[in-house]
Amino acid sequence: MNNFKILAINSGSSSLKFKLYDMPAGNICVGGIVERIGSSEAQFSINDKTKTVPIENHENAVKCLLEELLEQNFINQLNEIVGVGHRVAHGGEFFKKSTVVKEKELEKIEQLGELAPLHNPVNAMGIKVFSEILPQSIQVAVFDTAFHQTIPSYNYLYPLPYSLYQKYKIRKYGFHGTSHQYVSQKAAKVMDLNFKESSFITCHLGNGASICCIKNGKSLDTSMGFTPTDGLMMGTRCGSIDPMILPFLQKNLYLSVDEVEHIINNESGLLGISGISNDFRDVQISAEKGNPLSKISIKMFVKRISEYILSYASELKRIDGIIFTAGIGEHSAYVRREICKQLACIGVRLNSRKNRKNEKIISSENSEVKVLVIPTDEELVIAKDTYKLVHNLVKV
Ligand code: ADP
Repeated sequence: MNNFKILAINSGSSSLKFKLYDMPAGNICVGGIVERIGSSEAQFSINDKTKTVPIENHENAVKCLLEELLEQNFINQLNEIVGVGHRVAHGGEFFKKSTVVKEKELEKIEQLGELAPLHNPVNAMGIKVFSEILPQSIQVAVFDTAFHQTIPSYNYLYPLPYSLYQKYKIRKYGFHGTSHQYVSQKAAKVMDLNFKESSFITCHLGNGASICCIKNGKSLDTSMGFTPTDGLMMGTRCGSIDPMILPFLQKNLYLSVDEVEHIINNESGLLGISGISNDFRDVQISAEKGNPLSKISIKMFVKRISEYILSYASELKRIDGIIFTAGIGEHSAYVRREICKQLACIGVRLNSRKNRKNEKIISSENSEVKVLVIPTDEELVIAKDTYKLVHNLVKV
């Protein structure tokens, strides 16, 4: 096996998150984030140390990052970075797995910007910038949607005119695929199961949240849909609602399409109901102090999650485990307990001590279904997929 340095990149409209890995060992050399790109007071954080510097655009951000990696001796020369793996939000029906990106693939990722206007264009820009500044490195795209490409048509179609799917590809795509895949594979290892024969329900509960039903190692259904707004109630997103509410707002309150979009994506969810925050911890503190709307918002959040779990349980003959991950899933014993209370009907029993300690397996011995807490690591998957593809192309 050849040893390479691989960069895992997550580019946002004004930010660039990075982690440099030693592969195939998977050790992190360094990680950080450049925020407020485009400002004279951009924040560059590397290994938890932050400095304020002017960074005009993503190109500058990448240059700044590479200079810093050289200066701090994380690399001795640029060509040590053999591959750069990029998180890409939308792969549509075209990309079913991680892919080396050349001109044709980049064009396709840009075209798919129609389906993910906030994400794909900046992801594509990140790829372009790295291929220009690090021309000797191989660019790889890792798609949030790829894991869900196994969802069967009866689960991915909406009951709309079929022509809308044929002409405009309006269907469920699902997101957070890298995370759902990673935690379910990890759980299979923890439980000594063959992943390809294992069935899990994975709950990625962060600011954005989604659930996935995994049968025989493949995504069978997931809660996010055509966009990441669908499904669960989230920090600021509403999740599934009666679709007629949207035209109602437009017709009766004379709101524009952009205004309606802003409400459902930025002003709803935990923030919308509680009026306090999109951050679960803040809402919980306020609920504990007796704020009735914060209490209701947490009840709604929990109820929707348990409803999804129960409906997915009915699709699986056997559940090897229910997995909690991401900010809330990994850290909130309270949320896990409240959700699991609703799952008593399928034989779920928690061990409260293990739950409080965020242990790996938190169900009790007599639980009919195992419940696990598995920290997600999307960057590691990006680095591993990139290494695999790069390794096949480069013979050092
Ligand atoms: P994202 O990556 O989607 O922005 P994260 O996975 O980082 O989100 O999760 C953020 C959420 O996790 C926030 O709502 C935050 O309040 C919640 N969170 C983090 N730590 C805790 C904790 N100890 N208890 C409850 N919620 C937590």
